[in-house]
Amino acid sequence: AIRLRDVHLTLGQGRTAVHVLKGVSLEVARGESVGVVGPSGSGKSTLLMVLAGLEQADSGTVAIAGTELGALSEDQLAAFRGREVGIVFQSFHLIPNMTALENVAVPLELSGRPDAFERAERELAAVGLGLRAHHYPGELSGGEQQRVAIARALAPEPALLVADEPTGNLDGETGRQIADLLFSEQKRRRMTMVLVTHDTGLAARCGREVRVRSGTVEAEAAFA
Ligand code: ATP
Ligand code: MG
Repeated sequence: AIRLRDVHLTLGQGRTAVHVLKGVSLEVARGESVGVVGPSGSGKSTLLMVLAGLEQADSGTVAIAGTELGALSEDQLAAFRGREVGIVFQSFHLIPNMTALENVAVPLELSGRPDAFERAERELAAVGLGLRAHHYPGELSGGEQQRVAIARALAPEPALLVADEPTGNLDGETGRQIADLLFSEQKRRRMTMVLVTHDTGLAARCGREVRVRSGTVEAEAAFA
């Protein structure tokens, strides 16, 4: 489960300082999927960064899977992220000079998994890319690159998957296939998933929709 209480965060300094999150409170149950929507600049990506432990709240509390992130040291936070949080971005963020397999396996290896390459092979097969393991990102389509990124995010078996516009750089049909993959893996692994999207159809596929407006969580609409 995720529990945010009155989270404030200012990004930038001096003349570029922006009070982005202005008292965000949010609870997400374990295994739930939440679609985060809201206007451009409202703080959606920033909220995901806080959930992922990539930005620390200035005040308020953030607890994920029973761990209070504010109480962790930098090293502990990095270890927690590697173990418990998977991240998928709009622009894939693969390492260009590593193969699909290496993109998935190397982070696992760095976190000390002895079976990194075997696990990475299984994860690539699970996202339908078993036959592209030795391709470099530049030799893959956008949809295939996003599958690699999803395999990389899922490989450590995180409790939480956060995705920022995961279909934003893909055409409609490819985007639907990627969404299908995310939802099926989320259910299969009983992961919590928080997904930011401008696509109302995609948001409506989540168990619940949350609207961010001017740095606060405004309204929640439940979907059957
Ligand atoms: P979009 O839908 O366009 O992706 P968003 O809701 O994801 O928008 P954020 O990226 O979270 O919005 O940004 C929220 C606000 O915070 C914006 O006004 C942005 O200019 C500001 N901001 C983001 N990062 C920084 C930073 N590093 N320094 C200063 N301000 C920042
Ligand atoms: Mg954003």
